[in-house]
Formats: sequence, structure tokens, C-alpha cells
Amino acid sequence: MGRLAQTEGLTDIQREIVSTVRDFVDKEIIPVATDLEHRDEYPTQIVEGLKELGIFGLMIPEEYGGLGESLLTYALCVEEIARGWMSVSGIINTHFIVAYMLKQHGTDEQKEYFLPRMAAGEVRGAFSMSEPGLGSDVSAITTKGVRDGDEYVLTGQKMWLTNGGTSSLVAVLCRTDEGHPDGTAPHRSMTTFLVEKEPGFGEVKPGLTIPGKIDKMGYKGVDTTELILDGLRVPANRVLGGATGRGFYQMMDGVEVGRVNVAARGCGVAQRAFELGVSYAQQRHTFGKPIAQHQAIQFKLAEMATKVEAAHALMVGAARKKDSGQRNDLEAGMAKYLASEYCKEVVEDAFRIHGGYGFSKEYEIERLYREAPMLLIGEGTAEIQKMIVGRRLLEEYKIQG
Ligand SMILES: Cc1cc2nc3c(=O)[nH]c(=O)nc-3n(C[C@H](O)[C@H](O)[C@H](O)COP(=O)(O)OP(=O)(O)OC[C@H]3O[C@@H](n4cnc5c(N)ncnc54)[C@H](O)[C@@H]3O)c2cc1C
Repeated sequence: MGRLAQTEGLTDIQREIVSTVRDFVDKEIIPVATDLEHRDEYPTQIVEGLKELGIFGLMIPEEYGGLGESLLTYALCVEEIARGWMSVSGIINTHFIVAYMLKQHGTDEQKEYFLPRMAAGEVRGAFSMSEPGLGSDVSAITTKGVRDGDEYVLTGQKMWLTNGGTSSLVAVLCRTDEGHPDGTAPHRSMTTFLVEKEPGFGEVKPGLTIPGKIDKMGYKGVDTTELILDGLRVPANRVLGGATGRGFYQMMDGVEVGRVNVAARGCGVAQRAFELGVSYAQQRHTFGKPIAQHQAIQFKLAEMATKVEAAHALMVGAARKKDSGQRNDLEAGMAKYLASEYCKEVVEDAFRIHGGYGFSKEYEIERLYREAPMLLIGEGTAEIQKMIVGRRLLEEYKIQG
């Protein structure tokens, strides 16, 4: 293990958990990741291993059968997993966001019903805000939930559900006509519904269809799907938190912790790219010496390592801020922005160090090159992060008078 991306001040338990995950990644994920990714094959065996390690319940409170760990522990595990294969961290990410939203906003009955099975990995979560016509502009959601007796009837089309096919619980953000005390404010008329379903594709229950996997340039193995709601009936007690009109805030809360998570993924992918680059640079010779001995390549390695360190430090700071009970939207936005941009740059440099071989599917860097761009988009694009950070800065630095 190299000296990059170390984290000071961890407890013995945190160190043990992270080191166990790192061993698992080295033995069970890295050796098979590229083959599975090229075949776009779901990593069933890896997921079973992660279940045994308790990763699906890492942040779920102990009273519900989880490990009750902090966001920092979780983020460090995600960093390790993404270092092995980013798609595997994607399988955990949406599950983690839904479990977090349940823990923070669910009714007692909803927590007792879902969280123990989520901690065991038996119920796996996905979340759905995006639609074909919108992603960044969540307030423009058109999917509707209309009350009918003790049920809601959901109608609309959703897009880009990570784990849409393999999950059995989807948190779906819809527009409802009730529950917006301020009348027209769009974000006050949104509600999160907890939709249970069987994993699979096609019409998985009356009124709910998962058409199939979207064919993606990278981030393969994990399924990303559409979701079509055509009069799906959901019991009223499956409104997250028991009251309508709070969905926007619940989802934004979930996405905020998700941003630390995406930052951690960026850190993990960048670390792997650095490892691949620094190793190749010492093996490949040009003009009579290893390319690592050419100053231009050494400078690249220095820049890459500096970016790995900076992204890790910002990500750890954002996680610790949340764990201390403070608002962390500024730090999470900065960490997500920086880690995803640096990840793309470090991967690009490692790719260049590989010369022509970086273009060959035989080399792992080819996979990373197709994976890194996803981090620029998911959980809010760079532009959206900068909007969040900019607004918060103007609040903090507001001039008087
Ligand atoms: C592989 C993958 C998995 C995903 N998984 C999920 C998931 O599980 N659940 C889910 O709900 N969504 C998911 N998404 C959707 C993702 O969150 C959206 O793609 C993302 O939020 C961007 O939305 P968009 O694609 O509609 O782009 P748009 O919102 O249309 O933006 C297009 C461009 O315009 C820029 N832009 C938009 N508004 C502004 C503005 N005000 N100022 C400046 N620039 C702006 C954007 O930054 C971007 O560059 C996933 C996407 C991908 C690719």
C-alpha cells in the first residue's frame, strides 16, 4: 500500500473495516472487474461478498441490524471499492441513499419494515428523480401521484435509475397536489413514494414497467434503466415520512450525502489510475531508460499524486463535517466538484502514460477512461455543484448594509 490518501485520526474499528474492504477489493474485485465490465455482466458474486462484509448496512443504525458507522467510514469504504471497480460502488450508492433517507425521514413503521432487510442486503434500494426531460432541474418533475382513498396512483416516466432492474425498493419523487402550504412553490408539492417491486425487467407489477438496461459507454455491469408508471397503486403509508409535500427536501438531503459518496468514488478511481500510471512508467523504456526517468513523465506523476491527495483531503473533510452534525452542503459540493474533475484529469494522464497501449482493452486504464466521465454528471453536474457552492459562499460572505 502506497502512502497516498492516508486518513489521520481513524479509530481502530474504522481502520479495521477499511483494511478488510481493501483486502476484499484486491482479492475479489480487481482481478475480475475488467472482464466483467467488458461483458456488461452484473457482479453477483462480488455483491454476495459485500453482503457478508455487512457493507449494505454500514450506516444503518445497530437497532435495525446495521453497523451504525459514520459517513466517513462509509466514504472510505466506497473509495476502496471504486478503486477496484466503480460500478460496484454504484450498486451500493443508491441503496445507501435510500437507507439514509429512511433513517432520517421515515416513519417508525417504515424504518422497522425496511431497514433490517436493507441492512442484510435482502432489500436493495434505488432512487428516482430524473425524467427524460429533466435531471438538474428537479423542480420541473412531471410524474404525478394522485390520492385515491387509501392509495396514491402514480403516472409518469422516469429516466436513469441506477439499479432500476436489480433493486426491490425504489424511492420515487413525484408531484402531488396536496401538501404545499405556500400554494404554487413547485418544490413544496413533491412527495417521495417508497415503491416495492420484484427485481427484474418488463412489467414487474401492474402499472410498473422497467423496460431494460440502457446501453452505456462505461459504468457497465450495474444496470441503469427507465421506469414507467402507468396507474401504479401505492398505499398511502408508503409516502416517505407519512406526509406529502416534503419529497424535494428529503431527496436533496439524500443527494447531499450522496455527493460525498461520489467524491469518494472519484478519489478511488483516481488512486487506481495513479497506481496503473506509476507502475507502467517504470516498466516502459524509451530512449534508453524507463519513461518514469523522463522529467515530463515525472511531472505528470507529481501532478497526479497531488490531485489524489487534495481530493481525498476535501472528501474526508466533507464527511467529517456531516458526521459532526453540521450542515455540509458547501463542503460536499466542493468535494464532489474537485474529486470528479481531478479524477478525470488523473485518468487522462495515466492513459497518456500508457501510450498506444492505453487504447487497448487489455489494459485496465481503458476501462477507467470510460468510467471517469460519469462522475462529472451523477449526483449533480459540475455546474450544479458550482451553483450550490457559489450560493453558500454569498450567504457566508454577505456584506453588511
Ligand atoms: C449513468 C447514470 C446514472 C444515473 N443514475 C441516476 C439515478 O440513480 N437516479 C436519478 O434520479 N438520476 C440518475 N442519473 C441522472 C443524473 O442525475 C442526471 O443526468 C444529471 O443530474 C444531469 O441531468 P441531465 O442529464 O438532465 O442534464 P441537464 O440538466 O439537461 O444539463 C445539461 C447541461 O446543462 C448544464 N446546466 C443545467 N442547468 C444549468 C444551469 N442552471 N446553469 C448552468 N449550467 C446548467 C448541466 O451542467 C449540463 O452540462 C444518472 C445519470 C447517469 C448518466
